[in-house]
Amino acid sequence: MKVFLHRLRMWLAICMAATSVAAGAFTVVIDAGHGGRDSGARGVRCSEKDVTLAVAKALGTRIARQCAGVSVCYTRVGDEYVDLDERVRRAQAARGDVLISLHANSMAHRVGLRDVATGAATYVMQPATVAAGSRQAGQSDEEFAFFELQQAEFRQQSINFATEIQRELVATAHRRDEGVHQASFHVLQHACMPAVLVEMDYMSHRQAEQFLSSQQGQALLAQALCRAFVKWYNFKLGKR
Ligand SMILES: [Zn+2]
Repeated sequence: MKVFLHRLRMWLAICMAATSVAAGAFTVVIDAGHGGRDSGARGVRCSEKDVTLAVAKALGTRIARQCAGVSVCYTRVGDEYVDLDERVRRAQAARGDVLISLHANSMAHRVGLRDVATGAATYVMQPATVAAGSRQAGQSDEEFAFFELQQAEFRQQSINFATEIQRELVATAHRRDEGVHQASFHVLQHACMPAVLVEMDYMSHRQAEQFLSSQQGQALLAQALCRAFVKWYNFKLGKR
């Protein structure tokens, strides 16, 4: 079993290098959280769904302009309600190589924390929830072992990307660092590709919401996320 797993790991590494980094074959899926009847967190000036869509578009434009050979797809491009399964389906239909899901946090329900909680955090999939109950009927031990190794590889890549994102959100967008965390968010668990969910700051904090809703703030967030992507992507390509 040990030799088998070692061979599987080697094969997986080769497969992933070949499929993910082939020139012109890399697809970034940008997922603007909420939309349509689902406003997300509400601020004084705007709703989370407006912030996520504006940053998603600005980020996609930047990545397409700066990264030759990278294509950009979106799970939504307008004020549209898209449920979580459909977001995953769209990401997979686009043959995405990485998923970036954009959100903004809120503490509006916690009296006393409205104007206190600020900062940006990035989430990656939780290993236990990926494995638990994810075995499909009829899947052999080898197939399931492959699936688990693939998920572990995606997760490691997600952590690397999330770390770059946090670094840039602090350095470029001047957000307070709330760190990289694990969570069982639906899009992270089911994406079947490296995936990160970014809580860009708090809608419930007056100054943070002012930043999130401003064109300048949205441009800085897109710049930070794009820089993080370029660093992570170049590392994958072996350019660093
Ligand atoms: Zn959200």
